[in-house]
Amino acid sequence: MRKYALVTGGSRGIGRAASIKLASMGYYVLINYKSNQEEAQKTLDIIAGNGGEAQLMPFDIENTNEITGALDEWVNQNKDAYIEVLVNNAGIRKDNLLFWMSDDEWNNVINTNLNGTFYITRALVKYMLNKKYGRIINIVSISGVTGMAGQTNYSAAKAGIIGLTKALALESAKKKVTVNAIAPGFIDTDMTKDMVQEELKKRIPAGRFGTAEEVAELIGFLASNKASYITGQVIGISGGL
Ligand code: NAP
Repeated sequence: MRKYALVTGGSRGIGRAASIKLASMGYYVLINYKSNQEEAQKTLDIIAGNGGEAQLMPFDIENTNEITGALDEWVNQNKDAYIEVLVNNAGIRKDNLLFWMSDDEWNNVINTNLNGTFYITRALVKYMLNKKYGRIINIVSISGVTGMAGQTNYSAAKAGIIGLTKALALESAKKKVTVNAIAPGFIDTDMTKDMVQEELKKRIPAGRFGTAEEVAELIGFLASNKASYITGQVIGISGGL
C-alpha cells in the first residue's frame, strides 16, 4: 500500500531536498508550494527521474479555504489512504529592527510560519491519530531558540511553533504520532542568498553554511520508523552555532 507524505514549501530549498529524500524512502510525496510552479515542477521531475512518485499540491498555507479545498479533494480521490508524514517547512522571513517593524512585516511572518503550521497540522493530525501512526516534522530555526537581532517577528513565529510542537507531542504520543522540530542554523538556499556568507561563516564553528540535503537527512530519519521514541524535541542542525 502506498504511503503518503506532504511537504509544505516543497518547490525550493529545504522543502525540495526533503521531498526528494522522502520519495527515495518510498513515499508518494505531495509537493506543496505557493506560487512558483516552475520550481515545484523541477522537484517533481527530479523525483520522477529517480524513479519516485509525487504530485504537485499548490495552496497558500495562510489560507484555510485553499488548504481545505486542496486536502478535501485529495481525501475524496484517495479514500483508503492518509498522509502519514507532514513536513511543515514553508516559511518566510522579513527582517527589521523591532522599532522599525511594520504591522505587515510582523503579521506576514507570523501568519505564514506559525498560523500556516497550525492550519495544516489541524487538518491532517486527525487522520494520523485515527490510524494510530504519524510523523509531524516542523522546520523552525535557531532564531526561535536563541533569538536573533532583526528577527523579532521570525523568532517569535518559530518559538511559537516550538511550543506547538511540544504541546501536540503530549497530545499525540499514545497514538504513535510523533511531533518534532528541526532548528537549522544557516542553510544555503534562496532564503539566505541576500546574506553576507563570508561574514556569517566566521561565526559558525563548522566554518560554512549547511546544505538543504543535510537537513533533509535529518527529516528523513525523524520520518522513519527508527525515530519512534523521539517526540516533542527540538533538534539543532547548525554546524555548532
Ligand atoms: P526558501 O528556499 O525561501 O523556500 C521557501 C519555500 O516556502 C518555497 O517553497 C515557497 O513556495 C514556500 N512558501 C512560502 N510561503 C508559502 C505559503 N504562504 N504557502 C505555501 N508555501 C509557501 O526557504 P528555505 O531556506 O528552504 O526554508 C525552509 C524552511 O526552513 C523555512 O521554514 C525557514 O524558515 C526554515 N529555515 C531556513 C534556514 C536557512 O538558512 N535557509 C534556517 C533556519 C530555518 P514558492 O516557491 O511557491 O514561493
